[in-house]
Amino acid sequence: MGTTTMPGEVTRPGSAGAAARLVEAADELAADGSYEQAYRHLRTAVRLLSSLTGGVDELDRLRREYAEAREQSRRDSLTSSYNRRYLDEHLAALLDDRTVRSSAGVSVAFVDADHFKQVNDRFGHRFGDRVLQCLVDELALDLPPGGFCARYGGEEFALVLPGCDIASAVRTCEAARHRVDSHDWAALDPALRVTVSIGVAHGVGPVTDVEQLVDAADTLLYAAKHSGRNAVAYRDEQTGLVRLAGAAAARRSIVQPA
Ligand code: GH3
Ligand code: MG
Ligand code: MG
Repeated sequence: MGTTTMPGEVTRPGSAGAAARLVEAADELAADGSYEQAYRHLRTAVRLLSSLTGGVDELDRLRREYAEAREQSRRDSLTSSYNRRYLDEHLAALLDDRTVRSSAGVSVAFVDADHFKQVNDRFGHRFGDRVLQCLVDELALDLPPGGFCARYGGEEFALVLPGCDIASAVRTCEAARHRVDSHDWAALDPALRVTVSIGVAHGVGPVTDVEQLVDAADTLLYAAKHSGRNAVAYRDEQTGLVRLAGAAAARRSIVQPA
């Protein structure tokens, strides 16, 4: 055993061993997704080694690697949108954020591809994967500052819209629905058409928690589906009634969910 070293202590005979243990601990922390702590361990390890090696370059390389690993742990591997874990963590943080709560609050939209099983059945699952990738590109365009698109699972996505009251959230969702509807899907196959249904709910103030908001968006999504799909459903905050956005509102009736 070499001389015992403490984090921050510079090169003594045991520095290399202590640094190796810190690196091992960092790997375990990174495997658990604790990237900040892992990075702190690595920084200490590199300081210990800095007089033995080119420590600064090594620190930069490790910083980049961990930043990349952290980013990848937040992303869905198929679509590169954020994943469910990121959604859960960040939505909770946004609802807890005093600045967000004292402003227009947060809106959450649930987006589900319409009749997507038919796309797979007709064109194959890999083709369906490519459609989902294009779909995310359209959904993630033009979100408000701090907004993001996350894959909730399968062909379902969530749009998180901080600082959006219900009126602006409905406008954002209706624009996203329209972009998907008018996307050049024929470039993938002349017979392809893809639409989405969206339910959008608005949360503001300390009474709103993640579960309430997600349940509300989910209920509204099904209202949009039942109204005939390719539509955005929301709850009118004045009347409490569920409505459809845009031109669909004039063309279709909507069954009020229980
Ligand atoms: P609805 O309009 O009611 O939502 O109909 P739907 O066909 O979209 O809904 P359903 O739940 O019946 O089918 C969802 C389909 O989405 C079936 C499933 O194979 C497909 N899907 C889910 N995840 C993926 C994926 O990662 N890739 C592909 N290609 N398809 C997926
Ligand atoms: Mg679905
Ligand atoms: Mg679907």
